[in-house]
Amino acid sequence: MVDREKVATAVHLFLEGIGEDPLREGLLETPMRVARMCEELYCGMDQDPLDHLSKQFTAEGSELVIEKDITFYSMCEHHLMPFFGKAHVAYIPSGKVVGLSKLARMVDVFARRAQIQEKLTIQIADALEEHLSPLGVMVMIEAEHTCMTMRGVKKTGSITVSTATRGQFKDNYDKQKMFLDLLK
Ligand code: ZN
Repeated sequence: MVDREKVATAVHLFLEGIGEDPLREGLLETPMRVARMCEELYCGMDQDPLDHLSKQFTAEGSELVIEKDITFYSMCEHHLMPFFGKAHVAYIPSGKVVGLSKLARMVDVFARRAQIQEKLTIQIADALEEHLSPLGVMVMIEAEHTCMTMRGVKKTGSITVSTATRGQFKDNYDKQKMFLDLLK
């Protein structure tokens, strides 16, 4: 749960810290506005992936399910700056599948918190493995990190790619390649 008062106080202090006048007209409501926004940006902390994965359907014989181009926005825990991009999720069901929109919601559970891309990738793969018991899982995330692209080297548009594999995808180059080919 976001403590609005605490966040607002911190933002007020932050504005002073960067040399701003928090009492000037344009900034007057900024601390509380940021606090309210944080409730949405960090709402994943209060959610459980099982909220979205518990409703399952039987689909005997289904060999591969891929949900690609799941747009997400997250906050880098090192700089509290946004990183955003696309998550691609694949699994090989062992008889049970979930609604496709649920995969996107599950991605948001982990994206809407202070996060790093590598952990986000792993958490998505682990949640699928734990709750669906599939034969295999592969997750690939492509993201732009504004903490990199807005400062320092300023490599605009540079993309960070991360993957996680479980079960039949693990160490199986052919299966991994099939997933990556299907993303094109
Ligand atoms: Zn960062």
